Amino acid sequence: MALSKVWVHAELTPEGNLAPISLEILAKAREIADTVEVFTGSDGSAVAATAGAHGATKVLATGDLSGKLQGVHVAAALAAAIEAGDAPDLILAGTTYDGRDIAGRLSVKLDKPVLTNNVDIDVTDGIVVTTPIFGGTQLVKTKFAAGAPAIALFRPKSFVAEESGGGAAEVTTIAVPDTGAAGAAKMIDRHVEETTGPKLDEAAVVVAGGRGLGEASKFELIEDLAKSLKGAPGASRAIVDAGWVPYSYQVGQTGKVVKPTVYIAAGISGATQHMVGMKGSKNIIAINKDPEAPIFGVADLGIVGDVHKVLPKLLEALQAR
Ligand SMILES: Cc1cc2nc3c(=O)[nH]c(=O)nc-3n(C[C@H](O)[C@H](O)[C@H](O)COP(=O)(O)OP(=O)(O)OC[C@H]3O[C@@H](n4cnc5c(N)ncnc54)[C@H](O)[C@@H]3O)c2cc1C
Repeated sequence: MALSKVWVHAELTPEGNLAPISLEILAKAREIADTVEVFTGSDGSAVAATAGAHGATKVLATGDLSGKLQGVHVAAALAAAIEAGDAPDLILAGTTYDGRDIAGRLSVKLDKPVLTNNVDIDVTDGIVVTTPIFGGTQLVKTKFAAGAPAIALFRPKSFVAEESGGGAAEVTTIAVPDTGAAGAAKMIDRHVEETTGPKLDEAAVVVAGGRGLGEASKFELIEDLAKSLKGAPGASRAIVDAGWVPYSYQVGQTGKVVKPTVYIAAGISGATQHMVGMKGSKNIIAINKDPEAPIFGVADLGIVGDVHKVLPKLLEALQAR
């Protein structure tokens, strides 16, 4: 059973482009629905071409929402459009700050359930989403039973983004009704973390360090190795909590989900909460002095050794090339 119409949240990056997560979800939406449309809390001009190239035929745009909370206005506009008769079978967004905010408010306005944190969806026999639980050790399948529209949110990297070659999507403005007191909230500042090199969740190579590094200053080894492999540095929660690196470096259940071509885990034990964020990587290399460390259970290549000896040797070998 293909659905007749699906709406996908066209989330914008701080630079104003269509976010990778929206492109990933569009790839899946195309597969399960005859018509795919996107909605955005902007005037739509920055997303029409890319959304079209990824299979959307229409952009439902609220108009510029700069300085306002996306969730309040986008959810109100979508609910009004749906109540006026333009209801899709399914509404999809990323498990992101804006995606969650929009979906939560929409769920209340429409009195429809929202299922978050999913990694897959199937529409063969009703709309069924797959959600990892208990740190990713179990998968639960849940079927929507409350009628259209179903609202489902997906983790980053659940699907592979792929262009389908369509022309620019047509931009249609959707009216934002009066949002009352909720609409009064203003966004007065936005902090964009300064980074050099590729982004952690987009990098082809991730070099991650854990408590086995021993002390904060040793994270330099991770940064140097990441740099020489043109990759991004990552971290376990243990060293984020210890204040060695910022939270934006954290890989795992409560951090980022990464699926690079190569993931190097140095001095990381391999707790399930860490592995749920990196076990989809194509090639996993683990360096740990404990041969029994759980990380070796998912590693394609394991090095039993001291990170303080192995990492400098690796750097030396790379620099010699
Ligand atoms: C609700 C919840 C959510 C969580 N979310 C996350 C998450 O998103 N991401 C995450 O990472 N964790 C998360 N955790 C924490 C997780 O359970 C682990 O505590 C954490 O991942 C451990 O980090 P670690 O591997 O760096 O440290 P440790 O478990 O202390 O492991 C250090 C490893 O380094 C090795 N080692 C020590 N010295 C050396 C050396 N010189 N050379 C080589 N190896 C050495 C040790 O053998 C050991 O295996 C979460 C926990 C909870 C309860």
